[in-house]
Parts: sequence; C-alpha cells; structure tokens
Amino acid sequence: MKNVAVIGAGTMGNGIAHTFAQFGYKVSLIDVAQASLDKGLSTIEKNLDRQVTKGSLTEEDKIQTLANITTYTSIQEGVKNVELVVEAATENIDLKLKIFADLDKFSDANTILASNTSSISITKIASVTSRPDKVIGMHFMNPVPVMKLVEIIRGYSTSDDVTNIIMETSKKLNKVPVEVNDYPGFIANRILMPMINEAICSLYEGVAGVEEIDTVMKLGMAHPMGPLQLADFIGLDVCLAILEVLHNGFGNPKYAPCPLLVNMVVAGKKGVKSGEGFYSWNHGTKELIVADNFKKKTLISL
Ligand code: NAD
Repeated sequence: MKNVAVIGAGTMGNGIAHTFAQFGYKVSLIDVAQASLDKGLSTIEKNLDRQVTKGSLTEEDKIQTLANITTYTSIQEGVKNVELVVEAATENIDLKLKIFADLDKFSDANTILASNTSSISITKIASVTSRPDKVIGMHFMNPVPVMKLVEIIRGYSTSDDVTNIIMETSKKLNKVPVEVNDYPGFIANRILMPMINEAICSLYEGVAGVEEIDTVMKLGMAHPMGPLQLADFIGLDVCLAILEVLHNGFGNPKYAPCPLLVNMVVAGKKGVKSGEGFYSWNHGTKELIVADNFKKKTLISL
C-alpha cells in the first residue's frame, strides 16, 4: 500500500495525514473548503517543526513529509488510485453515510474504506456501500502523531484479510493496533466516557469541586490529567454525543449524560475549543484555572 486518502483536515484528519506522510505514504488530503485544507497543512507544518526541534525528525524528513501530501476539495478527484481511505470528517452520522456512499461510488472496487469515528457504528457505515467486507474502523487517538494506540474496529462483515492489512498498516506507522468488535463506544469510549460522566455527576451533586475531582484521579490513579480537564480537551459536545450513542445503543440508564454536561453544551461551554469548560482556557498561560461557574463550592447539595 502506497497511496492513501484522508477525508477531513481538522484536528484528527491533519494528524492522520501527517502520520501517513511521515512514514512514506503519498497522501491525498480532502476537505470541503480550501481554508480548512490550508489550516490543516499549516498545523502539520507547525507540528513537524516541533519534531525537528525535539530532534525526532530531520529537516529533510520534514520537507519530504510535506511533499507527500496533496490537497483536494473533491472526493471524486482525491480518491483516484488510492488503496486506502481514512475518513475523519465531522462526527455526524448523516454526513458520514453520504461520504461513504460517495467513496463507494468514486474509489476503486478494491479500496479499503476506514473511518476514524469515535462512536458511530462501522456496520451502519458499511451498510451504505457495496463492499461491507472492506469497511473498517481505524480509531486514532489525539494527538495522532504522538499517541501510540489505534483501535481497529471490525464491523459485522469486515473480512479477516482487511483486518490483517489494517493491523499491519498501523504497525508500519509505528502504532500499536488493538482489534475490537463493533458495539457502541467500542472499547476506548465505552470505558472512558462513563468515567468522565461520573466525574461530572460528582461535581453536579456537590461531592467535590473541579480541582479536587481531578486531583484525586491524577494523584490517586496516576492518570496524566484529571477527567474534567480531559473532557475539556476532547470537547464537551463530543463527550455528550458519545454518551448519547452509548445510552441509545445499550438502552441502559447508566449511560445517561449528566444534566450538567447537557447544560454546559447548550450554553456553548465546550471546553478548550470554546475557551471555557470546567476550566478557563483564554488566559494564555499553561496554568489550570477553574472556570468562574465552578468557583462556588457546591452546585447542588443532596
Ligand atoms: P474537526 O471538526 O476538527 O474536523 C472535521 C473536518 O471535517 C473539518 O475540517 C470539516 O471541514 C471536514 N468535513 C466536514 N464535512 C466534510 C466532507 N463532506 N468532506 C470532507 N471533509 C469534511 O473534527 P475532529 O475532531 O478532527 O473529528 C473528526 C473525526 O474523528 C470524528 O469522527 C471524531 O469522532 C473522530 N475522533 C475525534 C477525536 C478528537 O479527539 N477530536 C479523537 C478520535 C476520533
């Protein structure tokens, strides 16, 4: 496999394109708008510069990596002659179904179609194509060039051959692939999101404050960051969407999103991307500052 297309040049798409290009693949990076592609490319360049500064990459590697990436605003143009597509567009089921119908129409019949979705069913995505055996989940973690794990999700009809090819391809990117089956939240988010939700509920019920909850999990469980800080990084809207998938998919009330999380998303407090979540992110320092709303000790006293 030499030629890969990546759909979406956002947070994950530019990281996925960066990683494939760094390991010698020719990458077609596709987004709907030229502005998103320009922003994605400038992020890749910035991240490559950081690797050069750290000494993990040479200047020549950086130049070669950038030369391996070509940008397109049309799926039809961008997926010509690629052996693998990794879709990393916005997490919206209707959008993904439309993209996969187009990928099925415009790519070669043997092309493997992978999705980086955090929570949407791979079996459902595969159902709009004529090649469900060649549709698979390739769930990279953020930031992609740094994080080792790729969760490989087998849809109901994904073939052994395709699974093996994607496991091997992930290893060629210096990642550690882990194979899981296609059930709501897969493994990563099925375990992570209930923990984040429970942390938010503990805050909502006034059991402890933001810093206290995060400190317990950092120092007590050796987590590199607390669940509330992590939720701010992931995006509270993304956390809510994944919890809704778990809640609807299993029909079990234990996955019901905490009302505080719902309120914060409705109020536009989405974490780092909006400037405020459990912490405030607009002060331009690395210091963790609790958002004003949570400086009051107790929200609800049970
Ligand atoms: P993002 O909003 O940063 O980027 C999405 C990109 O998709 C945007 O640039 C948008 O212009 C583009 N896009 C939208 N419609 C498109 C179309 N029809 N064709 C081509 N491009 C299109 O989102 P993200 O955080 O990078 O998430 C992308 C995917 O990765 C989602 O499925 C998400 O669940 C998954 N994911 C995200 C994370 C994370 O931490 N952000 C982690 C793992 C997986």
